[in-house]
Amino acid sequence: MKLHEYRSKLLFSKCGVPIPRGRVALTAHEAKTIARELGGPVVIKAQVLVGGRGKAGGIRLVHTPEEAEEAARQILGMQIKGLPVRKVLVDEVAEIRSEIYLGVTNDRAARCPVMIASAEGGIDIEEVARTHPEKIVRIHIDPLLGLREYQARHLAVSIELPRVHWRNFIDIACGLYKAFTVSDATLAEINPLVITGDNRLLALDGKMVLDDNALFRQPDLAEMRDLDEETPTEREARRYGLSYVKLDGTIGCMVNGAGLAMASMDVINSFGAQPANFLDIGGGAGAEKVAAALHLILKDANVQAVMINIFGGITRCDEVARGILATLDEFKSDIPMVARLVGTNEEEGNKLLAEANVITATSLTDAAEKVVALAVESQLQ
Ligand code: GDP
Ligand code: MN
Repeated sequence: MKLHEYRSKLLFSKCGVPIPRGRVALTAHEAKTIARELGGPVVIKAQVLVGGRGKAGGIRLVHTPEEAEEAARQILGMQIKGLPVRKVLVDEVAEIRSEIYLGVTNDRAARCPVMIASAEGGIDIEEVARTHPEKIVRIHIDPLLGLREYQARHLAVSIELPRVHWRNFIDIACGLYKAFTVSDATLAEINPLVITGDNRLLALDGKMVLDDNALFRQPDLAEMRDLDEETPTEREARRYGLSYVKLDGTIGCMVNGAGLAMASMDVINSFGAQPANFLDIGGGAGAEKVAAALHLILKDANVQAVMINIFGGITRCDEVARGILATLDEFKSDIPMVARLVGTNEEEGNKLLAEANVITATSLTDAAEKVVALAVESQLQ
């Protein structure tokens, strides 16, 4: 579960991290009032759970309360990457001398938290990792000892932070680590942590991702879930208990079992095509769930062909076939489909599909080869 910038920054602030003065507003009028209280120029920031808000026009610097109202009105009417903006943060403007990245997450391979810092803050840290990996510094944290001061100092030295800021930087790093641990977070990030014109360190942006499996013991944080966080597709998938992740390829995939789904995607890949999604319909899926899954796949405009790969154990192949047929009845889709059904009730399932002109396959490889060929064909037409 992701937390909004303003919530993350408040949590950081409680742990001693300095943040700009400011408050969140639900209306343009409220934004104006806050801007007047703060006095002077303010920054209006869309509170949506995606990155790159600046580029999308969701962050505006303004000089007067009237301008703040107008900017807030515009931003509150926006959608950023498909998510509606329902709140804006009104913060006092900071003069930025330089932008630092500071974050903490778990390093699964090392089995402990890792703190990451870079002098190249402000932009996407993934981008820095790609283009200038040498500009990223990491230290691993012993979960029993916590972050030690010398480790934070090592980070400060490694990113060539001027010496006057070391003391504050160490306190901020320790505060961020504390916020990370007390919230059961999987990510706590300040990007950018800025050096201001008057030579202070200030967390201008904040991001937190909480461990969903720990929310049971974080009732206060669990209440902060933003229902707009999920895209409509993800929400629908969750409603039907489907594990769905949208990808960029052209082959829609419907599979039961996460491992089989991953394997199916790899085999599609080996035939030179890319999967349009990861989708695990889970064990024992009935016709209704299968139909919901196929809906999700067919709604994706990139999909040129669909591969269905079902290993019937508790899941019955005839039920799956019925789900597919029900969807086809309703959708009248001309997207070609290949199904490989094996296991419980496979004869009946395959018979049903053959009657509906769904191409059947005998093995995963056979299915992948056929579906990729059909996708190529459909593109040529
Ligand atoms: P993100 O793009 O969604 O990560 O949003 P950020 O909060 O990181 O803001 C993006 C950029 O907007 C920052 O890197 C700054 O360059 C700029 N920005 C945000 N707040 C301020 C501010 O108070 N003063 C100035 N001058 N720029 C700001
Ligand atoms: Mn940012």
